[in-house]
Amino acid sequence: MKTMNNGEKGRLYVISGPSGAGKSTLVAQLLKRLDNVYFSVSATTREPRRGERDGKDYIFVSRDKFMEMIDKGELLEYAEYVGNYYGTPAAPCDEMLSRGVDVILDIETQGAAKVMKMRPDAISMFLFPGSFAQLEERLRLRSTDSEEKIRARLAQARIECGRAEMYKYIIINDRVETAADEVEAIITAEKCRTVNRLHYLNGD
Ligand code: ADP
Ligand code: 5GP
Repeated sequence: MKTMNNGEKGRLYVISGPSGAGKSTLVAQLLKRLDNVYFSVSATTREPRRGERDGKDYIFVSRDKFMEMIDKGELLEYAEYVGNYYGTPAAPCDEMLSRGVDVILDIETQGAAKVMKMRPDAISMFLFPGSFAQLEERLRLRSTDSEEKIRARLAQARIECGRAEMYKYIIINDRVETAADEVEAIITAEKCRTVNRLHYLNGD
């Protein structure tokens, strides 16, 4: 990860979308493609899935530890989702942004709404697989959740999709490469916004 950004602060990208939309898959693809980007590792009380690594995919903590993080003001935002808590540790994000590194948050819609209010310059994207049928198929194929959890996640998906309008962009994850192309196009366009480029004209 390089940290050169001409003295500019990093940009904050928020990615939400129903469980099974492909957020983790997309983020992994983006981290391979992009330089100068940090993925914010969330704290969660959920049990690790097969293959998930502590400190890389999530920081897996007990409920007591999570409550302590809230009390100490260590979380930028947090939310309860299908029976577990999830939250964004504030310090690493702020440090990366101030070093000029772009930060990606993969968070659900309630947390995203809080971030958008606190950080109106955050660039928000809602990921959708293309259809609800595809969503259900992906949740089942991932085979990490019980039938009961899958049903809860599908019910939650309808609620979350009802909040898609608050996002600046909607990304369709039919093929992950195409979805990553869409995100890259957005990142490039955001970099070229007048507000981010005027300093070239105002210099020597
Ligand atoms: P999320 O992080 O949004 O819950 P995941 O990244 O875990 O979703 O993806 C859910 C499942 O769908 C995984 O098994 C993943 O391999 C699969 N998947 C993700 N993107 C695609 C895609 N474009 N086409 C087909 N399957 C996909
Ligand atoms: P999963 O259990 O499938 O990994 O994640 C469930 C949901 O929690 C997803 O919608 C994911 O985006 C969200 N999530 C992950 N980390 C955070 C976080 O730090 N804050 C919030 N608000 N949601 C999160």
